[in-house]
Amino acid sequence: MTNNDPIIQVRDLSFSYSGEPALSNISFDIAEKEFLAIIGPNGGGKSTLVKLMLGLLEPDSGRITIHGRSPRKMAHLFGYVPQDVNINIHFPVSVMDVVLMGRLRHRGRRGIHREDRQKAMESMQMMGVAGFKNRTIKDLSAGQRERVFIARALAADPEILILDEPTASVDTGGKTELYHLLGKLNETKTVIVVSHDLMIISSYVKSVACVNRSLHYHHHNEITETMIEMGYQCPVELIAHGQPHRILKTHGDR
Ligand code: ADP
Ligand code: MG
Repeated sequence: MTNNDPIIQVRDLSFSYSGEPALSNISFDIAEKEFLAIIGPNGGGKSTLVKLMLGLLEPDSGRITIHGRSPRKMAHLFGYVPQDVNINIHFPVSVMDVVLMGRLRHRGRRGIHREDRQKAMESMQMMGVAGFKNRTIKDLSAGQRERVFIARALAADPEILILDEPTASVDTGGKTELYHLLGKLNETKTVIVVSHDLMIISSYVKSVACVNRSLHYHHHNEITETMIEMGYQCPVELIAHGQPHRILKTHGDR
């Protein structure tokens, strides 16, 4: 397989929850080392699309392949940071414990080996959270906690990193830092970030998929008229290339 082959292919994908369509007839490719932002309004189907790519949900029709194989068979290639990791923060676990969970697939039934701790340390260092390794996760800021969960995903050495709304509860400074780190990770990994916040379209993002039951794929990191015309009903404040770039008004109710 050459580097130009898509790593993820989605063809005519549809999915509904109990007959209620969440995604209709979606097709797109994700190239290797892509940095894709998936944006769209709340309830637009972003998390559903992520779960389908991860093989956590099965399509009603159409198909998804990862390097030509089914998502379930390729689950080991993914590092996943679910939405809302900042909700159950009172769970009394340390940063190290959380990151070690990322090694579960490698460990299987054996206990924790030195190699697992080493890998956990490396990913904590990469995300700048190694200094807090013995703190409980509730004693971190939202931005730090998010980075711990990214470290957990990295501990498994994934080829593709998927983050579902990683910046939802992170302040602006934390967001900038997080995008910078994701930009660095993108040097070696395919990165897919879900957001309903168009601020995600920083200079690091290479392409944008707008999801609102249907999907529009843009091979560049700019907001276009099409994105707006497709009924992208969000108040938008776009920061591209580190600059406030274009500000759109609310487009009325759906
Ligand atoms: P987003 O992540 O873009 O906010 P979701 O993928 O979570 O959107 O949801 C898409 C649609 O599917 C929404 O209408 C949501 O209410 C519905 N939905 C999501 N999860 C479930 C579920 N487990 N059962 C039933 N409906 C769901
Ligand atoms: Mg979601």
